[in-house]
Amino acid sequence: MYEEQQTEQLIMDAIKNDWVEVYYQPIYSIKEQKFTCAEALIRIRNGMGKIISPGAFVDVAESNGMIIRLGEKVFEKVCCFLQEHHPEELGLHYIEVNLSVVQCDYEHLAESFIRIMEAHQINPEWINLEITESASGDRKKNFTDNMKNLMDYGITFSLDDFGTGQSNLNYIVEMPVDIVKFDRSMTAAYFANGKAKYVMDAAMHMIQGLKLQIVSEGIETRKQFETMRDLGINYIQGYYFSEPLPMGAFLQFLDRKNK
Ligand code: C2E
Ligand code: MG
Ligand code: MG
Repeated sequence: MYEEQQTEQLIMDAIKNDWVEVYYQPIYSIKEQKFTCAEALIRIRNGMGKIISPGAFVDVAESNGMIIRLGEKVFEKVCCFLQEHHPEELGLHYIEVNLSVVQCDYEHLAESFIRIMEAHQINPEWINLEITESASGDRKKNFTDNMKNLMDYGITFSLDDFGTGQSNLNYIVEMPVDIVKFDRSMTAAYFANGKAKYVMDAAMHMIQGLKLQIVSEGIETRKQFETMRDLGINYIQGYYFSEPLPMGAFLQFLDRKNK
C-alpha cells in the first residue's frame, strides 16, 4: 500500500510539475530501408532527475484513472514534436502512440485528442494509435465510438501486444487496424521453441492475407533481424537498431541514419 501511495504521489507530481517526458523508439521499414516511424513511450523524470519507466507506474495510473491525464500529456508532447519538426523532413510517416484500455473507455477521448491535434495543426496521417485486444473487452460502447470518431478524423490504428495473453486471431479480422505488432515474447518464442514457429507462420499468413502490416518488436540481434526480414515482416523495432531515445537523441539518430 505504501508503495502504491508513493507511485500515486509520483504520478500526481508528474502531472502537476510537467515531469512527463516522451522517448521515441525508431522503427525500421524493410521496404524503404530506413526509419519511417517511431513509437512514443512515456517516461517520468522525478524530482531527483531520475528517469522512471512505465512498468513502474502505468498499472497504478490505470487503476486510479490518472492514465487519462498522463496519456493526454504524452499525446500533447507528441503533437508539439510533430508541429515543430514536420515528419516528412525527418523521413517519417507517423508516430505511434500507446492507448491504455482505460483511455479507450473514456467517453471524451476522441474529443480530447482531436482538440489537441487541432491546436497543433496536426495532420491525422501523422498519428497511429496502438490499442490492445483487452481494450474492446466488456464496456464496448465508448471504445467503439472513440475508435470510429478518431478513424473518421483520419487516424489509423495498430494492434499492440499481439502474441501475449489470449490473442485471438479472429479479433484481427474484426478490428479495423492497419498494423499488427508482434510482442517481444512472440519473437523470443519463435527463436526458442520449434512449435512457436508454426504459430507465428500461421498468424503471419493470416495477417498478410488481410493486407495488414506487421511490426516485430524486441529485435535485439542481427540474426533475429535477418530472420524476421526473410519471413516477410514489414517493420522492425528493437534494441538491435535503437533503444527508445529522448527527443534530442532521436532527432540526431534520424539525421545520421535517414540521410
Ligand atoms: P509496448 O507498447 O509493447 O512497448 C514496447 C516496450 O518494449 C517498451 O518498453 C520498449 O522500450 C521495449 N523494447 C523495445 N525494444 C526492445 C528490445 O529489443 N528488447 C527489450 N528487452 N525491450 C524492448 P517501455 O518503454 O518500458 O514500455 C512498456 C509498456 O508500457 C509499453 O509496452 C506500453 O504497454 C506501456 N506504455 C509505454 N508508454 C505508454 C504511454 O504513453 N501510454 C500508455 N497507456 N502506455 C504506455
Ligand atoms: Mg506499444
Ligand atoms: Mg508492444
